Amino acid sequence: MKANSSNAKGMNRRNFIASSGGAMLILAAGTSPSILKGAEILTIPSLPYPENALEPIISAKTVSVHYGKHHKGYLDNLNKLISGTEFADMTLELIIQKTSGQTDKAAIFNNAAQTWNHTFYWRSMNPNGGGEPPKSLLEKIESSFGSFDECKKQIVSAATTLFGSGWVWLVVDGKVLKVVKTSNAEVPFVSGMKPLLTMDVWEHAYYLDYQNRRADFIAATLDKLINWNFAVKNFEATM
Ligand code: MN
Repeated sequence: MKANSSNAKGMNRRNFIASSGGAMLILAAGTSPSILKGAEILTIPSLPYPENALEPIISAKTVSVHYGKHHKGYLDNLNKLISGTEFADMTLELIIQKTSGQTDKAAIFNNAAQTWNHTFYWRSMNPNGGGEPPKSLLEKIESSFGSFDECKKQIVSAATTLFGSGWVWLVVDGKVLKVVKTSNAEVPFVSGMKPLLTMDVWEHAYYLDYQNRRADFIAATLDKLINWNFAVKNFEATM
């Protein structure tokens, strides 16, 4: 994801598609575009772990529907919406930047941002996650929030006070870390903040497993799944 988020802006559409799996980035960058001809639609990377890897915190059924139906659904909608338009040759991030705040482009923005957000979300967790962040990030968290507990408290609070659907993010804003929430498909990077982690608080992310208990879902994810190493990589990329 780091490759997608930090390097995709300067890449042309075909290289972006080829690099969506992450590992192919270097190969694709040095490959003649003609070899990649025919790859004319945006794609999403595979899940970084098996569908049942997040159990018992998030069930295989939830991950399967969330990735296979919701995430892929946003991608499919996006490809239909941009086909034959000025957006057809842009990277996903550029599409998001160009359509953000444009009411007549809301459908493209929503599907593009949801495509990006979910790719970022899957990488914000891993089966052996949770616990404490590595020292470099922990120190930054402590200087920004006072303590790691306070940071976690703010994440849970943001998730439970977000009205309706949206996302909770740990971001870098200027020189400090912050917890922010966004509604629906909104992404913090269009406002200049740099996302380190995200948690999906749309009901489809937890309803099968937790019904109305959103706070329990967030607390369990923080405790057992949150991928602090991914946050560290994203943090280092901002420096
Ligand atoms: Mn979702």
